[in-house]
Amino acid sequence: MYLVVQGQLDMEGALTARDRVGIQDFVLLDETTETAFLSNLKKRFSEDLIYTYIGTLLVSVNPYKELDIYNKKQMDLYMGVNFFELPPHIYALADNAYHTMLTEFNNHFILISGESGAGKTEASKKILQYYAVSCPSTTLLDTVRDKMLMSNPVLEAFGNAKTLKNDNSSRFGKYMDIQFDSQGDAVGGHILNYLLEKSRVVHQNHGERNFHIFYQLVQGGEEDLLHQLGLERDCQHYNYLTQGECAIVSSINDKNDWKTVKNALNVINIDETDINHLFEIIASVLHLGNFHFESNSKGQAILNSNADLNYFSPQLLGVNAETLRKGLTFRWIEVKKDEVLSPFTTDHAIYARDALAKAVYGRTFTWLVNKINESMENTVSGRLKTVIGLLDIYGFEVFNLNSFEQFCINYCNEKLQQLFIQLTLKSEQEEYEAENIEWEPVQFFNNKIICDLVEERHRGIISILDEECLRPGDATDLTFLERLEEKMGSHPHFVTHRLADKMTRKTLERGDFRLLHYAGEVTYCVVGFLDKNNDLLYRNIKDVSLHVATQFKSSLLKLTEILMAKEAWYVRCLKSNESKQPGKFDEALIRHQVKYLGLMEHLRVRRAGFAYRRRYDVFLQRYKPLCPATWPHWRGEPADGVEVLVQHLGYLPHEYKMGRTKIFIRHARTLFATEDAFERC
Ligand code: ATP
Ligand code: MG
Repeated sequence: MYLVVQGQLDMEGALTARDRVGIQDFVLLDETTETAFLSNLKKRFSEDLIYTYIGTLLVSVNPYKELDIYNKKQMDLYMGVNFFELPPHIYALADNAYHTMLTEFNNHFILISGESGAGKTEASKKILQYYAVSCPSTTLLDTVRDKMLMSNPVLEAFGNAKTLKNDNSSRFGKYMDIQFDSQGDAVGGHILNYLLEKSRVVHQNHGERNFHIFYQLVQGGEEDLLHQLGLERDCQHYNYLTQGECAIVSSINDKNDWKTVKNALNVINIDETDINHLFEIIASVLHLGNFHFESNSKGQAILNSNADLNYFSPQLLGVNAETLRKGLTFRWIEVKKDEVLSPFTTDHAIYARDALAKAVYGRTFTWLVNKINESMENTVSGRLKTVIGLLDIYGFEVFNLNSFEQFCINYCNEKLQQLFIQLTLKSEQEEYEAENIEWEPVQFFNNKIICDLVEERHRGIISILDEECLRPGDATDLTFLERLEEKMGSHPHFVTHRLADKMTRKTLERGDFRLLHYAGEVTYCVVGFLDKNNDLLYRNIKDVSLHVATQFKSSLLKLTEILMAKEAWYVRCLKSNESKQPGKFDEALIRHQVKYLGLMEHLRVRRAGFAYRRRYDVFLQRYKPLCPATWPHWRGEPADGVEVLVQHLGYLPHEYKMGRTKIFIRHARTLFATEDAFERC
């Protein structure tokens, strides 16, 4: 097979395949310099080989073009084959996680990370497709698989949007459990969603769009439907669709996508009535966005006369037309224990309109995720055994203007990097220590200091933001910034205009703070932080006030707990260039990502360390048929049995080490040879 051929050529010293296509596992590189790493990646990329391993971690470089490597033939090729026998592939990783789950009866998760546009969502779709197509199948379960697959176009329509970084950028975080029974059949799925970027519903930056579904409906919706919803077939007509000035994008086919989404909604069993309601809500958000307010002689807001309230269904929005009109132009205030109506200014009215649109959309999204979960629920009772979790969350992003949304997204990425560090670099080294394995420590940057800066109780940015939101009186975005300056002072990862040295000050505005994230510097503008964190809806529309960042923080904490209880697999996605050009390898951009993703450190740990480890009893139980002295029973200590067994198998001294409770095997190929022998016996 491929790897074997490559290996033979290497040994013979001929013009090697390795010269042409590089090395498929960085662990085998001659030197571990960044330059050698980049050069190998580039060599492979120029041959359309976008995947390379670091041990069992998969590095993927976005090719920005369709490659003929995702089809049934390829899936069959990778099914049940040892990891390193074939060229690196996302299918190989999916398959390895799956087979390990089946043989070891434990739960797994695949963490897909990388910055916006690096290819995380595409990778997660490929993995899901692999499971849907390749796992054993029965007619009953086929429908569960179809639903799992079809959840993607629906959630992408409602939760993805064109940004400057990515034409299909995920604006929510998604964790999906794929549930398997003991035979390896996929029997159900469950999705957890994280912080949808609701502000996009009412505001888009130049060059960006609202969520795809709005454009799909306006451009693809059937005549009857548009008529019924009172919509024009023209995106330009809608205030909420035109701010970015790019309603039509050549890379996106909204009409076709509309058909896909409609079909997907049927597959996931959302009935006609609910589908109609869904689009009534989407349409009402568009109508709402076209409400304008005029000011009367007293400066009070009045809804413009041509605003059509007929398209607002009281059953769906929970308010009738008159209440809505009032709700957008007045609010109830308490005067001497009485409640009286106080008129809004036009600014307040616009704020109330936008707050309602965001809330309606956000709740619709949650409703949709719940519906999808109901439809993917495992109905084959008692058959659920193990799960593989897939995590695809919005990637790290830096724009010219960064706000509360980027702050949350980048904090989330900071947490995932911390999880990676804990599970790989840190725990790996701690395990060697605990097992008394001799070991040369590898230095790495631990981003815990930045996580603490954001989330520490009473002292972190989120706590200070909450305090400022709750403080009665004159709290504003700027007082929040002042509080940050007081508390953070000389923190090495935090700086503002006032705290900066002369040189840095030139690059900062007065209303900004800058964080030195693990992935680079980001300057945040504080305008809107308090409002967005409060997510306030005026009382007479609905009485809701959440503290957004704190909720997000605790949901990320829960997610970390879910993941920590599972065995981890990693896909690290790299963005090849900023202009989305096929085949362009921007070396500086990739070098930067290799650096901050900690890939060099990971490689060093992997090279110096051991690819595989197994508890003595587990190892012995599986491989004891391979040695007459351990078969059928080994009566002594498992560790002694394992020693006898590996001696018999011919393991060389440098290939393994005996720890306190586990055997450590340096290269995966050693274990695979043993596994092959086991399969044959
Ligand atoms: P975000 O954080 O913004 O959601 P992302 O990492 O999820 O970004 P994707 O949406 O997966 O990024 O990828 C961006 C685009 O890159 C895709 O729409 C597609 O055009 C291209 N792309 C990504 N991966 C591949 C691949 N394996 N093959 C071909 N094209 C790809
Ligand atoms: Mg994505």
